[in-house]
Amino acid sequence: MVDLHVHSTHSDGTLTPQQLIDLASSCGLSCIALTDHDTVSGLKCARLSAQLSDVDFIPGLEISVERPRAHILGYGIDPDNTALQRALERVAESRRERNLRMVRRLQELGYSISLEEAIAQAGGEILGRPHIAKVLVRKGYFTTISSVFESLIGSGRSAYVERERLTAREGIGLIRSAGGVAVLAHPGLLSPDLNEVAARIETLRDEGLQGIEAIYTEHSEELSDRLIDLACEKGLIWTGGTDFHGDNKDGIRLGIGKGNLAIPDGIADRLKSLIELNRHS
Ligand code: AMP
Ligand code: FE
Ligand code: FE
Ligand code: ZN
Repeated sequence: MVDLHVHSTHSDGTLTPQQLIDLASSCGLSCIALTDHDTVSGLKCARLSAQLSDVDFIPGLEISVERPRAHILGYGIDPDNTALQRALERVAESRRERNLRMVRRLQELGYSISLEEAIAQAGGEILGRPHIAKVLVRKGYFTTISSVFESLIGSGRSAYVERERLTAREGIGLIRSAGGVAVLAHPGLLSPDLNEVAARIETLRDEGLQGIEAIYTEHSEELSDRLIDLACEKGLIWTGGTDFHGDNKDGIRLGIGKGNLAIPDGIADRLKSLIELNRHS
């Protein structure tokens, strides 16, 4: 079995790339892909760790885009690609600005939190909302990370602040020109209406999307089956992953999600073939 959607301490996960490879090995997974938000900084370390283990590794990342709004996974990208690095630096800058504004908003709402505390909580390069949530949990304001999202920092809540995002065209274009395969993450979270999801996939395919994540922690078995059919219909590959974040996302385990996921080895093999094919075309 494999897991093609995993976060490390380089974004908002709680395990280092090395710890993820070790965990994958002890869980009996044959391959994992590291897909940190907006950064490729964990990939070299993960590759080295994988080389010393029995776990195969696919480099990746996850980019939040707009027009249409979606999360795009990029697999097989070259981490040294200059255009990609420049764009990620731009994204990081807008994230820094957003984080500062969110912390200020929380202070105005009466919470004792500083940007320094959030940065210390993040440890790595990307400071994300889960880190802010964790500080508030640690200070006893809330008992779970998800309750902080529900009350304060989820989209549209009182302390939520938007940040600039790449457009879907830019995000997918960057992934493709860095030699990667662009895959739509968790399509089921886009809309409860499958026709709407299909329309969104169609738009993204026109921008260069090559796959969709059909198997996912929050997808029902029925939804996964329908997304697999949809992928086949539209000439896309399908992938699967848990979105494991360690302790930063409650109740999700590497490889199995909430306990019932099983993503066959063949899915990673097919993805690797497509990465190779892109490289030679
Ligand atoms: P950011 O990229 O800083 O806007 O943070 C987005 C990240 O927050 C997502 O990738 C998830 O890891 C996490 N997240 C979003 N919504 C929730 C939620 N309701 N509960 C827990 N984590 C969440
Ligand atoms: Fe995340
Ligand atoms: Fe995502
Ligand atoms: Zn993710």
